[in-house]
Amino acid sequence: MNDAPIRHDSQAQYAPVREEVAKLCAGFPGEYWRKLDETRAYPTEFVRALTESGYLAALIPEEYGGAGLPLSGAAAILEEIQRQGCNGGACHAQMYTMGTVLRHGSPAQKQEYLPKIASGELRLQAFGVTEPTSGTDTTSLRTTARRIGNDRYVVNGQKIWTSRAEHSDLMLLLARTTPPGEVAKKGEVAKKTEGLSTFIVDMRKVRGLTIRPIRTMMNHNSCEVFFDNMEIPADSLVGEEGKGFRHILSGMNAERILIAAECVGDAKWFTERSVAHAKERAVFGRPIGQNQGVQFPVARAYANMRAAELMVHEALRLYEAGQNPGAEANMAKLLAADASNEAANACIQTHGGFGFAEEYDVERKFRETRLYQVAPISTNLILSYLAEHVLGLPRSY
Ligand SMILES: Cc1cc2nc3c(=O)[nH]c(=O)nc-3n(C[C@H](O)[C@H](O)[C@H](O)COP(=O)(O)OP(=O)(O)OC[C@H]3O[C@@H](n4cnc5c(N)ncnc54)[C@H](O)[C@@H]3O)c2cc1C
Repeated sequence: MNDAPIRHDSQAQYAPVREEVAKLCAGFPGEYWRKLDETRAYPTEFVRALTESGYLAALIPEEYGGAGLPLSGAAAILEEIQRQGCNGGACHAQMYTMGTVLRHGSPAQKQEYLPKIASGELRLQAFGVTEPTSGTDTTSLRTTARRIGNDRYVVNGQKIWTSRAEHSDLMLLLARTTPPGEVAKKGEVAKKTEGLSTFIVDMRKVRGLTIRPIRTMMNHNSCEVFFDNMEIPADSLVGEEGKGFRHILSGMNAERILIAAECVGDAKWFTERSVAHAKERAVFGRPIGQNQGVQFPVARAYANMRAAELMVHEALRLYEAGQNPGAEANMAKLLAADASNEAANACIQTHGGFGFAEEYDVERKFRETRLYQVAPISTNLILSYLAEHVLGLPRSY
């Protein structure tokens, strides 16, 4: 039996960052996550430690108090968190939602929010896009923000699956400011993608906002959010009114790539656990890992993880070269979510009954990684994107 560490293609330049992240994660072992899981509680101490170490501000430019790392730095951090058995889902959105403020926010908004997000004084963890009736069809969303005079908007509607809303100060909100089909003089919207606007909402300062947690199969702190004549100042608008969908879309590649990196980290955790258990557990007088029936699913999941990892790196390379790698970012997310799901399945199988026991953490991670087949974009929608935009097939929806 060979006890050498399992080889991965972790980018060498981030080895020191990974080492430091791993050290931080060692302070948050399985029992920490298990305890939170029982009561669906938020990992406040973990998020505080990540913030104080500067990791959550990895992408915020240095002039605003962040680390100013390229996207690959953030990907390395999130991947390592997952690889160590922790759950970056508690706070990862701050990394990519912040990008919308950075790219489209006014100088005043950037000065107001970014340094405070970097220092941890403010948390921007909530991203309100999905609604119960529109689902994947984002541009059909019904939440409205009506401009009243020069100084405010009034928001009405409902969001669903707004993760971490209870544990965030700020929410990035997508709402309709011009109804499709409204008469020309009021500003007719030809396409459903037009007429949506992005707002940064300071949830500590508003009335008419109700947040209700949804209990889910894993601990993700997701919520329903209701807006009942919620007034927000006019300067909450981020970017141009009516162009909010584009502003959000411009951050999607980064989001997909970062989630893909997390899935690669999960797949590595599962594979390491599978291998360790398969070497140690002896049945019929020999380690179960000596049986090809046990080896092959783990080996196949490992190969698929490595392929996904290459696609994550390719998407990062193109992104950092200033390109718009929609296809690669989507493929990275698809392949990595599949790889982590496969590795999770193989890990449960390798552990036999122990895979279902909470103390092994396998079942918890299994539940956690399953999400990425559906959110933030489902596998089917990625396949539709590839079919239409890469293969040139007719749009299916
Ligand atoms: C735990 C959790 C956290 C989340 N966090 C957030 C968050 O912070 N902010 C936020 O805005 N959203 C969040 N989401 C929402 C998430 O992005 C959506 O659940 C996801 O995009 C799918 O939308 P839906 O649930 O409405 O599914 P639906 O749109 O109802 O789709 C259901 C199924 O049908 C498939 N489908 C739909 N249309 C088509 C089609 N045309 N072709 C083929 N298949 C199709 C989908 O792929 C999916 O599998 C979260 C979701 C969960 C579960």
